[in-house]
Amino acid sequence: MDNNTLHIIGGGMAGSEAAWQAAHMGVRVVIHEMRPAVGTFAHRTGDLAEMVCSNSFRSDDDEQNAVGLLHWEMRAANGLIMQTADRHRLPAGGALAVDRDPFARSVTEALMAHPNVSVEYGEVDSLPESGQWIIATGPLTSQKLGQAIAAETGQGALAFFDAIAPIVHHDSIDMSRAWMQSRYDKGETEAERTAYLNCPMDKPTYEAFIDALLAADKTEFHEGETAGYFDGCLPIEVMAERGRETLRHGPMKPVGLTNPHMPDVKPWAVVQLRRDNALGTLYNIVGFQTKMKYGAQTEVLRMIPGLENARFARLGGIHRNTFLNSPTLLDDQMRLRARPNIRFAGQITGVEGYVESAAMGLLAGRMAAAEILGHPLATPPQDSAMGALIHHITGGAEAKTFQPMNVNFGLFRPVDGLKGGRRGRKDRYKAYTDRAKSAWNDWLANSRLDAEQPV
Ligand SMILES: Cc1cc2nc3c(=O)[nH]c(=O)nc-3n(C[C@H](O)[C@H](O)[C@H](O)COP(=O)(O)OP(=O)(O)OC[C@H]3O[C@@H](n4cnc5c(N)ncnc54)[C@H](O)[C@@H]3O)c2cc1C
Repeated sequence: MDNNTLHIIGGGMAGSEAAWQAAHMGVRVVIHEMRPAVGTFAHRTGDLAEMVCSNSFRSDDDEQNAVGLLHWEMRAANGLIMQTADRHRLPAGGALAVDRDPFARSVTEALMAHPNVSVEYGEVDSLPESGQWIIATGPLTSQKLGQAIAAETGQGALAFFDAIAPIVHHDSIDMSRAWMQSRYDKGETEAERTAYLNCPMDKPTYEAFIDALLAADKTEFHEGETAGYFDGCLPIEVMAERGRETLRHGPMKPVGLTNPHMPDVKPWAVVQLRRDNALGTLYNIVGFQTKMKYGAQTEVLRMIPGLENARFARLGGIHRNTFLNSPTLLDDQMRLRARPNIRFAGQITGVEGYVESAAMGLLAGRMAAAEILGHPLATPPQDSAMGALIHHITGGAEAKTFQPMNVNFGLFRPVDGLKGGRRGRKDRYKAYTDRAKSAWNDWLANSRLDAEQPV
């Protein structure tokens, strides 16, 4: 096996970004991707970097939000995923939503066009014996490879469930009941300020909706499988089970919205839908991941005012998530301690979400390439968002209770001398993001092999 070539298993968010970074540092890269020959239940295409559920990279606010900060750091590092997302951006208020199919096609084309990158299609079903590898096979790692990883780590991969939000055809929505508006009219353009489609509920409708949710037929977990969800993506029926008001304070909160059809009546709850493609023909129901059975699902969702005749392009569903106990298995360069020629990246390392997965791909790609080139990179400083995440998964987190993690300010060291609590929040977040940007810029400047060629 040629030790100067980097092999990456999985061409998703993490694998694509890792390949791009390593290739730009001058290292030859082979991506091994099983699709389209072997699919998963969530992917639809053979494209690299396919977004399997929501079309959002979440908040793009790099001063007050940790995900927005991660966007900023990836852009500063010539990140392929962020640059391509920017090119296929859709209006979504303060969030970065993208047109998913052109986005994935562009990532694929950019990688295919790079002289240092080649793609070999086919499933990898065992752990490589030699050479330099990154495993970035994601939450839906194929069964055989998952078993091989589990056999090697003895404790690693564990499966749990998550849920997909339904997608509705726009022309089936009753706009005499619904209206377009972003919460608090946020956004700089008219398109941004009207990025969401809102369906209002009065109190009796909300109560009936909660009753129906609680009574609906749900998909049961299979025997031997562990039930769990990633935070921020809880199925609506699980939220409803936690309390009748939970949804009204979560995805159905009515604040910052005025119904133009009844401006004097404050809605009791609001269901929001967000554009899912550039054409504006599809809308996803924001935060409405669900494991209700299909029949029950259509019945319950059609109780939402404006969706009485909704046609669904895709109903919600449940899925598996495979991830390692990274704090015990990986070193601070994301190498498997027992087999340091193998790195892991992406969701399988126990980060959560498209952005975080791509971010860990960016680091793994750079670190692996630097090692191949004989100039290993230091781990990024913990004050950066990248550093905060990698420190968390490779050591900062409690190994016994390790669960997938989104980037958030809770992973950052406190900034001295600033007020705690809600009142000091704005200044605190600004201080975190200022400090992070400077730490990340320093790390990039000191990464001797940093490549800064535009996409
Ligand atoms: C159904 C579902 C819904 C989700 N919804 C969201 C969401 O709304 N927002 C969000 O931020 N995150 C969501 N996630 C998480 C999301 O998958 C990850 O955030 C992100 O895609 C992970 O990136 P990754 O590169 O680690 O894995 P992926 O993007 O899944 O890429 C892994 C790649 O590895 C390939 N592969 C797997 N096994 C093998 C093998 N043995 N050989 C070769 N290739 C292989 C796969 O085909 C895939 O292309 C969801 C996940 C699932 C499963």
